[in-house]
Amino acid sequence: MGGSQALPADLIGPGPDEVAAALEAGLHIPGARMRAGQLLQWVYGRRVFDFDRMTNLPADLRGRLPGVFRLALPECVRVQGSGDSTRKYLFRMADGQLVESVLIPASPALYGERSDRLTLCVSSQVGCAYGCKFCASGLDGWKRNLTPGEIVGQVLAAEGLSGERVSNLVFMGMGEPFANFQNLLAAIRVLNAPWGCGIGARRITVSTSGLVPRIRDYADQPLQLRLAISLHGATDDVRSRIMPVNARYPLRELTAACAYFTHRKKQHITFEFILIDGVNCTPAQAAALAAIAGPLRAKVNLIPYNSVPGLPWVRPSETAQDTFLGLLRRKGIQATLRREKGHDIAAACGQLRLQTALSNEMAGAA
Ligand code: SAH
Ligand code: SF4
Repeated sequence: MGGSQALPADLIGPGPDEVAAALEAGLHIPGARMRAGQLLQWVYGRRVFDFDRMTNLPADLRGRLPGVFRLALPECVRVQGSGDSTRKYLFRMADGQLVESVLIPASPALYGERSDRLTLCVSSQVGCAYGCKFCASGLDGWKRNLTPGEIVGQVLAAEGLSGERVSNLVFMGMGEPFANFQNLLAAIRVLNAPWGCGIGARRITVSTSGLVPRIRDYADQPLQLRLAISLHGATDDVRSRIMPVNARYPLRELTAACAYFTHRKKQHITFEFILIDGVNCTPAQAAALAAIAGPLRAKVNLIPYNSVPGLPWVRPSETAQDTFLGLLRRKGIQATLRREKGHDIAAACGQLRLQTALSNEMAGAA
């Protein structure tokens, strides 16, 4: 956080202590703590993003605040969908990078939450370095991490645009959230805090491709956050074929970390399993998946693969999907198969990079 010479710091992201410290360092004002509380109240309570409208602050302070803090939401350059259907927002960050967030109204609880009234799927990075073979987000490589302010900004901006409060959050947009761990945790603090967005920890789900050390770190966090694992292969040979991360953290280590989370949090995880024809939609994979999910009492969320232009993978037939689901259920696994168009969270968010690429020209023209 800056002194008076430093560049203005993002006001979205830091908490009351850091804001107060920045006010003291940058402006040497008395009562910085109280002013910090007022500032955050304007931002998160009243959703006012213009210092001039913060009328309980002295006018001279309002004038000096832009020297200390930057206060801007990601700019929405495109919206897809409307009304009570899934809405995709394309946001432009201050440096021009584009990310998408997807608002999914009234979908049934997917990740174990109680109710799931309005879910926002947010991005954690621009691009992704993990290069899963089926995923559009990694096609163009990794560009950069999103800052805490840019992650929280997606929520504030989506709420502003929709006029509704987001009740549930999933980190299933572009990027690998656990590869941006510190910023992820900083963002979650704001999203959860009573002085921030006030979204309950049990309504926040982070999805990871399986970064084992971070799964353990995440389990050690005090908040009751939820965890989803992108499994997609139930044996090392199948998983390694489509997810390079499996070479680094093979299934034995991954499932041990999942067990650690389940034990530590007394909470069950969700395995996401994309069904891809000729790859993982087989009775042998269903049996192996049941053997992994069973002891963990994990939920399995089956997602028929959404084809990505340029990639060879296709979704299996509905019969094959149903057979796979049936095999899991017969083994006592709590499994769901989501194929409603537009309500498929993973599919909606798994292709952000492509959406972004398609939208680039438009954004450039805007
Ligand atoms: N990097 C994290 C979170 C973002 S991906 C992770 O991998 O978990 C969100 C989900 O979308 C993941 O489960 C991912 O495997 C899935 N996904 C990616 N491409 C997809 C596609 N074409 N069809 C369906 N789901 C896809
Ligand atoms: Fe990255 Fe997740 Fe896509 Fe894999 S599935 S490339 S980790 S965004």
